Amino acid sequence: MIRLSLIAGALLMSLPAAAQDKPQWTLVIHGGAGVMERAKMTPEREAAARKGLDTALEAGSKVLAGGGSALDAVEAAVKVLEDDPSFNAGRGAVFTYDGTNELDASIMDGATRRAGAVAGVTRTRNPISLARKVMEGSPHVMLAGKGADQFSAEKGLEQVAPSYFATKERRRQLETLKAKKTSWFDIDRKFGTVGAVAMDAKGHVAAATSTGGITGKRWGRIGDSPVIGAGTYADDRACAVSATGAGEYFIRAGVAHEICARVRFKGESLKAAADIVMKETADLGGTGGVILTGPSGEMAWSFNTPGMYRGKVSASGEKVVAIYGDED
Ligand code: ASP
Repeated sequence: MIRLSLIAGALLMSLPAAAQDKPQWTLVIHGGAGVMERAKMTPEREAAARKGLDTALEAGSKVLAGGGSALDAVEAAVKVLEDDPSFNAGRGAVFTYDGTNELDASIMDGATRRAGAVAGVTRTRNPISLARKVMEGSPHVMLAGKGADQFSAEKGLEQVAPSYFATKERRRQLETLKAKKTSWFDIDRKFGTVGAVAMDAKGHVAAATSTGGITGKRWGRIGDSPVIGAGTYADDRACAVSATGAGEYFIRAGVAHEICARVRFKGESLKAAADIVMKETADLGGTGGVILTGPSGEMAWSFNTPGMYRGKVSASGEKVVAIYGDED
């Protein structure tokens, strides 16, 4: 016994410091980035957001602590945020110009690099589960519009009336936007998209993102959230990324894949790669942020907005929930 523990001790000593510290699992989530400033936030709004993020961290960590997969954990965390009307995904999604809710979501498994995505869906309670169904129950990666709604019903996902997604606050935001004729990329915008990235006990990573898009979107506009490589990417050889922000710029910068590529080919830390790519996105005019985790157990986030709804937890670390840029 003593001898065994001596050998184990010797083995441990020979491991690099990073490997010794590697958490058994990690989870990072976001609920959108934007102009979150203390002066502009009501205490109710802040408390609701923090509670929602905390509940999502709980749901995801329960999966991971029980030995579940990163894929199951990111789906579980995102479902909580989709069900929470505080965030722009599922119930509480923003309105299109025509006063409808059209939802986008995507998910990716870093172990196999399989991926699934849906765009412009209108009847599935949890679009993230539909994205997963596309990945696991079809030969495709991305389904859109009517066909995606039909696939969802055929596969038996929970269907809801389109009015389920609508909230008064989001309708007010659409009316304000129409009245002011403000730009869609108004500097004051708060992106409420949700996302999660995780590493499980086997060292596999996964990423998931879900959104209603941007208020007042028209003509079937689709952002980065359901675009694999832009809003979502996961690769065990690098990291898992979920983004939020002005989708058009994230698509042009290929944000999620670009970060993974820098990590994989240049050996950069997740934080360094994310900061560089967010800076490049800002140079194009794009505001927003990303969350990341990798097989090494590193967790990171980066945003070029004043704040981002975000949270993280790991097997060995304390739970953190933050909103403003100067927290954590
Ligand atoms: N990225 C999303 C989109 O452009 C919006 C957001 O993050 O809130 O559709």
